[in-house]
Amino acid sequence: MTDAAETCIKVVCRFRPLNRSEVARGDKYIPKFQGDDCVSISGKPYYFDRVFQSNTTQEQFYNAVAQKIVRDVLEGYNGTIFAYGQTSSGKTHTMEVSYFEVYLDKIKDLLDVTKTNLSVHEDKNRVPYVKGCTERFVCSPNEVMEAIEDGKNNRSVAVTNMNEHSSRSHSIFLINIKQENTQTGHKLTGKLYLVDLAGSEKVGKTGAEGTVLDEAKMINKSLSSLGIVISALAEGSSYVPYRDSKMTRILQDSLGGNCRTTMVICCSPSSFNDAETRTTLQFGQRAK
Ligand code: ADP
Ligand code: MG
Repeated sequence: MTDAAETCIKVVCRFRPLNRSEVARGDKYIPKFQGDDCVSISGKPYYFDRVFQSNTTQEQFYNAVAQKIVRDVLEGYNGTIFAYGQTSSGKTHTMEVSYFEVYLDKIKDLLDVTKTNLSVHEDKNRVPYVKGCTERFVCSPNEVMEAIEDGKNNRSVAVTNMNEHSSRSHSIFLINIKQENTQTGHKLTGKLYLVDLAGSEKVGKTGAEGTVLDEAKMINKSLSSLGIVISALAEGSSYVPYRDSKMTRILQDSLGGNCRTTMVICCSPSSFNDAETRTTLQFGQRAK
């Protein structure tokens, strides 16, 4: 009775270090950390379940955030980890994986490049799923890593500028885990979604037209739908608007309820990104 009743939405925040060009430009390191759950920018505090400073290693981050979710998924729960933040704030670095992607609200299969516009259907239990998406059977961590590599390669061959592209599309990696006890025949299934979101920065209001404008609208819409869903779940609201975007619909049975959901708010520490970082932290606060 303990686990299921726990509130299962966590929002954590991670700052990357200043990079070389920021240092060369003379940017200041702006975050001030208090305890392990608070960060201030120019005196304004923002609170999270945990805040990770720039010197946090991948292993420390994994142990503190992902390990528990992965264990719960192995015990039959569903879980989702999101990385949210502006381009170059450390989202991909934090997820380490990058499959299918949602671009202009179109779902593309990253394990089979011939499938470029998949649709969302519901199974007999009304659980949404991506119809026709390639499923690969894996038995070892190595095979998981191979699938990730293939997805990454497929993602980058299709586009000319990978960084630019990844800032404009969400990538979603789903690990479906099925276990069977050969003695008792008891079956256990769990799903883990790893979601590397599109860059959260606002596209300049002027000059954006055509595809760029469509993209900007779609990204803003899907990120704000996600924020609304997460805060509705965190508040225990009876109505959660999953159907407002394709992404929240796909993730529906892995968000809230009896699921483990963690949003990682990724931030640049540079004075150059001051305004964007505050907006990002604000988004994270609203999701709590
Ligand atoms: P995003 O996916 O948000 O656009 P990336 O994950 O690609 O950003 O990170 C941008 C750059 O910063 C990469 O070169 C990455 O290796 C580096 N970086 C990000 N986070 C960290 C970190 N916590 N420690 C060290 N380097 C980092
Ligand atoms: Mg990225």
